[in-house]
Amino acid sequence: MSNFIVLVKQVPDVKKISDNCFNPETGTLIRSKLPSVLNDLDGQALSMAAQMKRLQGGKGMLVLLTMGPPMADEVLRYGLKRGADAGVLLTDKAFGGADTVATANPLAEAVRKIVRDYFDDSPDYYIVCGMQSVDGDTAQVPPQIAEELGATCITYVTQVEYADGQFEFTRIVSGGSQVIAPVKIPAVLTVAKYDTPLFPSFAASRRAVKATLTKFGKDDVKATLIGLDGSKTSVFKVFQPDKSARKCIPLSSAKEMAEKIVECFKSEGASAPNIDQKTFTAYTLPSNRKNPWDRTYEANQRDSESVSFLHDLLVEMGLPLERELSAQEKAALWEKANKRFSKNSLEDIFAAVRITGASFPGEIWVMAEHDRGVVHAATFELLGKACELAEALNAPTGVLMLGNGAMGPMAKELIAGGADKVYLVGHPLLEQFDPFAWRKAVAGAVVKFKPAILLFGATAQGRTLAPLVSYRTGNGLTADCTGFDIHDFSSRRKVGLLFQTRPALGGNIMATIFTKNSTTQMATARPGVFKRRVFDPSRTGEIVNISVELSDADISWKVLRTEVAGNTANFHAEVIVSGGKGVRNTPNYNELTGSLIKALSNTLGVSVEKGASRAAVEHGFVERAYQVGQTGTAVSPKIYLALGISGAIQHMIGIANTKTIFAINIDPAAPIFKQCDYYLVGNVDEFVPEIVKALEDFKRGK
Ligand SMILES: Cc1cc2nc3c(=O)[nH]c(=O)nc-3n(C[C@H](O)[C@H](O)[C@H](O)COP(=O)(O)OP(=O)(O)OC[C@H]3O[C@@H](n4cnc5c(N)ncnc54)[C@H](O)[C@@H]3O)c2cc1C
Repeated sequence: MSNFIVLVKQVPDVKKISDNCFNPETGTLIRSKLPSVLNDLDGQALSMAAQMKRLQGGKGMLVLLTMGPPMADEVLRYGLKRGADAGVLLTDKAFGGADTVATANPLAEAVRKIVRDYFDDSPDYYIVCGMQSVDGDTAQVPPQIAEELGATCITYVTQVEYADGQFEFTRIVSGGSQVIAPVKIPAVLTVAKYDTPLFPSFAASRRAVKATLTKFGKDDVKATLIGLDGSKTSVFKVFQPDKSARKCIPLSSAKEMAEKIVECFKSEGASAPNIDQKTFTAYTLPSNRKNPWDRTYEANQRDSESVSFLHDLLVEMGLPLERELSAQEKAALWEKANKRFSKNSLEDIFAAVRITGASFPGEIWVMAEHDRGVVHAATFELLGKACELAEALNAPTGVLMLGNGAMGPMAKELIAGGADKVYLVGHPLLEQFDPFAWRKAVAGAVVKFKPAILLFGATAQGRTLAPLVSYRTGNGLTADCTGFDIHDFSSRRKVGLLFQTRPALGGNIMATIFTKNSTTQMATARPGVFKRRVFDPSRTGEIVNISVELSDADISWKVLRTEVAGNTANFHAEVIVSGGKGVRNTPNYNELTGSLIKALSNTLGVSVEKGASRAAVEHGFVERAYQVGQTGTAVSPKIYLALGISGAIQHMIGIANTKTIFAINIDPAAPIFKQCDYYLVGNVDEFVPEIVKALEDFKRGK
């Protein structure tokens, strides 16, 4: 019989964000302008845990755990009304300013205490969490808790079943789904979607109002990594994202849309992608600069000004630029600077200008993802970015690949795609992805070779593996990045530092983050954001085989079934017509996409492919191979037509590199209208036949 701990969090209600929630001068969000709500996915996690308890006959205890300020106890009462047995609030001022590592560590210690205090030290328990919280969108804390506890980590769960006294979980994987049964308990589950609402009962609501909640403070949990000091990453700046580069123009008729499609197809320019694809700012290491006092590459304008002020002052006072100053000289300089600097910052700047190499020395690595002998497109995109970073830092690029059997042909492709070295870790137990075994192999390589940077794709696999490895190796991790830059940060005595930019609060703000207290700077990055390099089959590189010791004890789950797409869709087509849940059924999907594909290929004279949202695939409208998006395929056609698709981030990531996006949706407030170029508000059943007719008329020259 299992017990359950559900992690819940109070978050700002991002649906209520408007322009006046931002400080106009700093661009930062004024948190107090937004009401607090329970993080939606945590509510779904609670619902799944309650279902798991029911499946085992109502036995076992369900304890809620939240970390936050004292008022966060509201979410505990919310859960108690919906069947939780107890609520624990982890609260202490000392926890403030924590990143994910310094959040996971005290939460894991609180779990240990709950297991002692409530479960009689029984190891048979599940920690059930929402996959991510809307304020951070990092999805890192639950795997990091799993790593601290040595627990099985089962991410992206969408369903649970109970058979022969054992739980089985359906989880999202790239291109499909998988059913697994854990072979090790305790386990941490992250719930990606569980649409079974949980209602409060009258009796539980009465109990919840009076219930005494347990409070744990810093001294109760004895965490080793807390607050700012325990964090491995630091926020450099927060700012509002650029407005979408998409045009977002409403059209008034099907005829107008047909004309626009033809016009955009023929025009070369089309519109720019809406994800941050700014070109990389050039960077040169101090060792390659003519003058070590040249601070062109500072992240911080103030640091740049301070260094040049100091430089000019040294010249004016006739003091040497190239050697350490004596205490007397420094005192004179400080006096002359008229206390513009504190003595410490003067030391920081002097230290920084004496650094010649990168503060994080080493190779620039990418973690490869592959399936059935084919390297994932995201790996090549990351490699393209890694090449830029490596050129700036004067370092080689490396790709780390795990698996079993022949990986040589893929290694050669990676070399052609920009890798200087490919590190292969082959073992029969690495045949399929098991986070427990994989994180051990990756962490082993990271500790041995100490790369300066390690990038993972922000895929279902990458977002599971990266936090496990980062916690295990003690390195900071930034999730879901859309931009990387290299800068100096002299006031922190850092040179050649990786600045990692990512969206937060559901894309309403952007944050730039850097890694600290680490040996490797780690990040996951969104697929479809960076450009792969053109293959150069004449490139040469080195293949390095690494051994790893693994046994059955390193396997955490049994894969019962996997359903993934075959590669049959022609997503290199210049035009793609996709249907979403809004097309409602298979015959309608076939009719609407089929008639448009025929009319478009006749009119434009090119091959046109069909596509679908994940929801359409899950409703059986079309096979999995046609799914577009984060866990489907990322596409980059000239024209993308979205029929009855809402515009969820996971779908839009997959079409970010499309030149022109057209959308038809019945809901005037559909999110896709803010992320497309041209749209029609209305019913696809009515508009699609009209567009088809207009295209046919056009072809006949009417
Ligand atoms: C980890 C993870 C990975 C995911 N990966 C992907 C992925 O790769 N690809 C993907 O697509 N999703 C993915 N999703 C799911 C994603 O979050 C959305 O649930 C999904 O994209 C929604 O599909 P949809 O827009 O078809 O359906 P819905 O969101 O239900 O939208 C249907 C739309 O149809 C409109 N509509 C209804 N009737 C009509 C009509 N008659 N005419 C016109 N419009 C109509 C509605 O207004 C609505 O906007 C993922 C989710 C998770 C958690």
